[in-house]
Amino acid sequence: MSTDARRTATTARKISRRTFLGGMAVGAAGAWGVSSGLTRFGYDPARPPQLYEYFLDNFWFEAADLEHQAINPPLRGSHKADIVILGGGFTGLSSAYHLSRAFPNKKIVLLEGACCGYGASGRNGGFCDAGFSGLMHHVDAVGPEPGRKAFDASLFGISQIKRLVTEHGLQCDFEENGMFEAAMDEEQARQLEHHQARYRSMGLNATLVQGRELEAEVRSPRYIAGLKFPYGAIVNPAKLARGMKPIVESAGVEVRERTVVLRVRTGKIHRIETEMGEISAPALVLGLNGYAPKLGFFRDRVLPLCSYVIATEPLSRAQWDAIGWRNRQGIADMRVLFDYQRPTADGRIVIGGSDAPYFAEDDLSSGNYKPAIEAVTRSLFATFPQLEGLRIEHAWGGTMGFTTDFTPSVGVTGDHENIFYGVAYNGEGVAFAQTAGRIIAELMAGQESDLTRLCVVNHPMPYLGPRSLRIVFERLNKWYLLRAGTKTVR
Ligand SMILES: Cc1cc2nc3c(=O)[nH]c(=O)nc-3n(C[C@H](O)[C@H](O)[C@H](O)COP(=O)(O)OP(=O)(O)OC[C@H]3O[C@@H](n4cnc5c(N)ncnc54)[C@H](O)[C@@H]3O)c2cc1C
Repeated sequence: MSTDARRTATTARKISRRTFLGGMAVGAAGAWGVSSGLTRFGYDPARPPQLYEYFLDNFWFEAADLEHQAINPPLRGSHKADIVILGGGFTGLSSAYHLSRAFPNKKIVLLEGACCGYGASGRNGGFCDAGFSGLMHHVDAVGPEPGRKAFDASLFGISQIKRLVTEHGLQCDFEENGMFEAAMDEEQARQLEHHQARYRSMGLNATLVQGRELEAEVRSPRYIAGLKFPYGAIVNPAKLARGMKPIVESAGVEVRERTVVLRVRTGKIHRIETEMGEISAPALVLGLNGYAPKLGFFRDRVLPLCSYVIATEPLSRAQWDAIGWRNRQGIADMRVLFDYQRPTADGRIVIGGSDAPYFAEDDLSSGNYKPAIEAVTRSLFATFPQLEGLRIEHAWGGTMGFTTDFTPSVGVTGDHENIFYGVAYNGEGVAFAQTAGRIIAELMAGQESDLTRLCVVNHPMPYLGPRSLRIVFERLNKWYLLRAGTKTVR
């Protein structure tokens, strides 16, 4: 959704994105006494997660021709494997990719409830950000030199996507155009300067643009300054996820789609019950991200927040000329509830953000949630009034995993140290989930590297507060932020 450093810039603001989420958890934790008896009310771990109830008007799926693709048959009957991976998003698929190379003789089975790319991985904005969420806070803590080392290691995710494209011929409309951050007011412009100084302290390139230079990048009456960052790319994420499936299959991984996992009994040997079968294995990989709490994992640590996206009709040549944007970078603005937008290969704009709702009981994205879709549509035309009248052809949403410290966690857990996971990318998982898969494979192989030394490895995720009150505090928190009148919050 945005580059990691944008998060850092926001922390210096009166109300930052971190405050936005943190306020919710602090309030909820304070109310623990009132609600502890209610926390588990209505929760039935055996109930199937609500995976398929929404119609998805997803442009990426259409462009990837998902409708005509073969979806693998479900797991039926009783099976054994060496490694079972849950989830066919970028975490599950990249784990499958690297594990199949690290352990060519092991039987690896990936279970996906719908189809590979069905979750956030096939629905997102397609920004491949350099770094990872929380990296700049790490840089502040450890200093620019070790910070730069972590940044370089984190570039693995983008280079891995490039490798999939160049070595495996995966076609996913990958364009390495860098990223662009846009300021809408003076405060945000100051944050961009601060931000540029941070990059420079790490020896990284970032160029501030204003006036004519800004106009040469993109023409919007809303933007008063911008920061060009050469690292980063855009992709069609559904093509990337769907394209990874045959690659891991050809490496020997058995991919079972339409296989909803109902229950996981963890232990020395894990037993995984699905709708039509069961499978056991001594090693488990969780690639469930925002869906993980529904299966009982990280319920007090990972907050499922939703994001909504629209795709316009293709713009005419004259419309592109009117808004500039020749370099085709992903653009994110600097507000707390920000927008992220990018061009598509066939000349549309895909834009998301403006809100990040939480639904009671950690519920998953409710498809086309109207208020968020309307907010992002209004925002598109406020950013580009030149495009008034342009049709919106698709609108969809998805569920992400967040933490209150905005930092992902990739590691190993369980009494037998045999549950591997990558989770909570805080809206920046397209590239970083590729890195997570590599880390998971290295951890399982007992290897050490710059990746396994990254600060996210076994990073303890903060407690979120009781589930039953999260919805109340999310609403109160948002109301407070909006009342606070900061220009950075819509
Ligand atoms: C609208 C939106 C925009 C975003 N924009 C960006 C962006 O531009 N850049 C960026 O870096 N990140 C972005 N993100 C975040 C990014 O998409 C995620 O961080 C990343 O895709 C997470 O990948 P994952 O594999 O961990 O999880 P997911 O892709 O969510 O995969 C989890 C999989 O598990 C499956 N599953 C769940 N429960 C079960 C079950 N019980 N049984 C079997 N299978 C199950 C699901 O079907 C799903 O396929 C965005 C997210 C959303 C929703």
